[in-house]
Amino acid sequence: MLRAMLGLTKTVYEDSAEVVIVGTGAGGATAARVLAAAGVDVLMLEEGPRLQTAKRPRAAVGALSGSLRAAGSQTTTGMAPIPLLQGLCVGGSTAMNSGIIWRMPEDVRQTWIAEHGLASLVDAEALERIYAVIEEELEVAETSDEVLGGNATLMRMASEALGLPGKAMSRNARRCEGKGECLQGCPGERRQSMDVSYVPRSIRDGARLETGCRVERVDIEGGRAVGVSGLKVDPVSREVLGRFRVRAQHVVVAAGVVHTPLVLQRSGLRGMVGHRFQAHPGAAIVGRFPEPVRMSYGATQGYEVPMRDRGFKLESLSLPPEMLAARLPGAGAEWQERIANLDHYAQWCAQVRMEAKGRITAGPLGPLAFYEPTERDLAKVQDALTLICDMMFEAGAVEVYPGIDGVPEVLRSRAEVATLREKAWQTGQVHLVASHLFGTAVAGADPSTSVVDDQLRAHGVSGLYVMDASVFPTNMGVNPQHSIMAVVWRAAEALAARIDQRAAA
Ligand SMILES: Cc1cc2nc3c(=O)[nH]c(=O)nc-3n(C[C@H](O)[C@H](O)[C@H](O)COP(=O)(O)OP(=O)(O)OC[C@H]3O[C@@H](n4cnc5c(N)ncnc54)[C@H](O)[C@@H]3O)c2cc1C
Repeated sequence: MLRAMLGLTKTVYEDSAEVVIVGTGAGGATAARVLAAAGVDVLMLEEGPRLQTAKRPRAAVGALSGSLRAAGSQTTTGMAPIPLLQGLCVGGSTAMNSGIIWRMPEDVRQTWIAEHGLASLVDAEALERIYAVIEEELEVAETSDEVLGGNATLMRMASEALGLPGKAMSRNARRCEGKGECLQGCPGERRQSMDVSYVPRSIRDGARLETGCRVERVDIEGGRAVGVSGLKVDPVSREVLGRFRVRAQHVVVAAGVVHTPLVLQRSGLRGMVGHRFQAHPGAAIVGRFPEPVRMSYGATQGYEVPMRDRGFKLESLSLPPEMLAARLPGAGAEWQERIANLDHYAQWCAQVRMEAKGRITAGPLGPLAFYEPTERDLAKVQDALTLICDMMFEAGAVEVYPGIDGVPEVLRSRAEVATLREKAWQTGQVHLVASHLFGTAVAGADPSTSVVDDQLRAHGVSGLYVMDASVFPTNMGVNPQHSIMAVVWRAAEALAARIDQRAAA
């Protein structure tokens, strides 16, 4: 007890830098990559641990509890909580993601320009140049047939048979060996997540990294950010070791969509901070096939069917066996028979571009995420998951397990899929999960409706920047990592240029 109380008062770490970056995910690591290469003195502060690939547990539960925020139990509030998956480790959410790469769709870019005044941030020519560099550095390539695996191959068959616009995914894993362990961290470091790419690269370029730094607030003096302070924790056990303080000329907050607004709120920023929280919640369907599917071989995610006009995107998603087993219906001998055939299942999921907008704020025990899908959002979920059931039977499934409350546990024919369409689904009937999160510190030209400007500078506080998915004024309908990196890259270039000009003056 005494130790814990001392830990809250004793300063155990002090440092300084030209630019301090809070968080090392897609946004923070990209900012470090650009600034360090430009010769800026960069310090990256990360709350979680730097995981060593060779030592990361291969069993999913151990791997995810050691790398996800709250071991994956962070959820929205309300009657039907939606888990909000976010990384808590060096590399952030990229350390367990599937490396799927999509450039920002043109309609999204146009909306950002027309409705949010972000023409400069998403300038087409600049983004083209940046995407090309990132794609080269992060080894982006289309998933080859050799590592597509049974799960994705079945989805391709279904997509082609139904004339859907499916394609092999582009991922940042050109040398993928098909081990299907993206969630646990790529065993051969083939997937270029931030922990194996831009974080070490920035360090080679002179940046420093300090883990176990839970930033509480940006220190602001006279309207200018002068550094950050918070608790120094053991990054693995989470034990509080004391306080820390870092002085800096520029502060980049990149703690992700749920935690960036909390850091800003604790620093005294108000207005739109925490608002416009958006997501692509989704759910998955499992199907049983007569021949072995061998989900354990192939890219964790290899094939996708983008249906942006209907507001969703379908993806193959392979699970480790222990997670797949938990998804099988039945009990007793029936369940035993199903689990004895664990090699015969495929799983495909939907990511739904929801119109719902929520809010993140601080609660007594952590963040509170107020977010409720609308009726129209649930209709899109129903449309997407019903289509997956149809696709599974088209590919030859003998049983499909929708996993939706109030509909049959097991479907055995395409005719039975019709039961899923009979009544509109209600909140709580379908178990959603969200890993694509947006908003909460949105960019825009108008300070009354946004938190940062078109160079990701905080309105009203000089020297403060937000460079992560929080700045997205809208969601996108495609996987976000590449767009996050591209807009952050653009803003970090502008910051590096300003630092350079000041040094020259
Ligand atoms: C399981 C999963 C699969 C996904 N698959 C894909 C995919 O295939 N393709 C794709 O495009 N996107 C995917 N995503 C989404 C993508 O990874 C995220 O959108 C992206 O990483 C968000 O970047 P970010 O910088 O905003 O936040 P993050 O990458 O989450 O990084 C935030 C960082 O800040 C740190 N942090 C938080 N609070 C503090 C604090 N107070 N002090 C210090 N540090 C702090 C965190 O530990 C973390 O390292 C996936 C996400 C998940 C969880």
